[in-house]
Amino acid sequence: ILVPFVALALAFCFYSRKEDFKPEMLKGKRVIVTGASTGIGEQMAYHLAHMGSHILVTARTEAKLQKVVARCLELGAASARYMNGSMEDMIFAELVVKKAEELWGSLDMLILNHVGSSYFGFFNSDVGHVQKLLDINFLSYVTMTVAALPMLKKSAGSIVVVSSMAGKVGFPLLVPYSATKFALDGFFSSLRQELVMQNTNVSITLCVLGLIDTENAMKTVSGVFTSPAAPKEECALEIIKGGALRQREVYYEYTSTKFPLLIRDWVPDLLDYLIRRSYNTEKLK
Ligand code: NDP
Repeated sequence: ILVPFVALALAFCFYSRKEDFKPEMLKGKRVIVTGASTGIGEQMAYHLAHMGSHILVTARTEAKLQKVVARCLELGAASARYMNGSMEDMIFAELVVKKAEELWGSLDMLILNHVGSSYFGFFNSDVGHVQKLLDINFLSYVTMTVAALPMLKKSAGSIVVVSSMAGKVGFPLLVPYSATKFALDGFFSSLRQELVMQNTNVSITLCVLGLIDTENAMKTVSGVFTSPAAPKEECALEIIKGGALRQREVYYEYTSTKFPLLIRDWVPDLLDYLIRRSYNTEKLK
């Protein structure tokens, strides 16, 4: 039974294979990167600068954004600007897209990456926190997408959504965060289907990341989550490549994301058990 299925899957993979990535693909492209004052977003801004893109970065902390913009210009960005504000505020989310329109008149890539701070611990029943995190991590992504779609349709552009393994499978101690990342998968995977049905040439790339060595993540999970962390610089590049190649999903890195997910639908209890085993519960006591 499996043979025709595997043959069909291989033929489909071969047929849908895209061209190889070249940094020139981003030269002169107009790109928004949210959550770019630190971590993976900051590294994405530097890669894009190196490739000669026009960049608009966002976050709340103005001083950090000013430094990121200065570094982007040193690295060769075609132009670099910032907008500071909180993604709790949907008006700010819309204004960022408006700013891109004012600056460039068009947009090629929208990279949605920012994440609100949450706790790393057992669910504390705080519904208000879940709501606030949904606003920052989910609703602002939707708001920016709605505002950017007219420009992206004209430029045949791309939406890149940064998610997590915790958006594909349940992870303990991350209940509100995980909920927001699952929501992204539901919204953007359904929207992708509709864009195809409507012959709209806008790609959506969902990025499924394992643990990455950003300062905030390392501080948060320290001593409790014991899996090794992958480098943020390489992670940032893989996200950009996936967006430029219009891949439906990016898995980084494979051993902590793609491979474990292969067993999710067949033996979910085993995957849950393996995930729980990567926590040092002694540290929680
Ligand atoms: P960081 O915590 O390093 O960066 C988060 C960014 O979001 C910062 O620029 C921060 O700047 C900004 N931000 C935070 N709150 C708000 C807000 N309310 N409004 C606007 N901007 C805000 O995150 P990482 O680089 O570690 O993560 C980046 C992405 O990767 C996230 O989507 C995350 O979920 C995902 N990911 C990360 C993993 C990891 O291990 N690092 C693993 C899996 C997924 P400021 O505080 O100045 O506003």
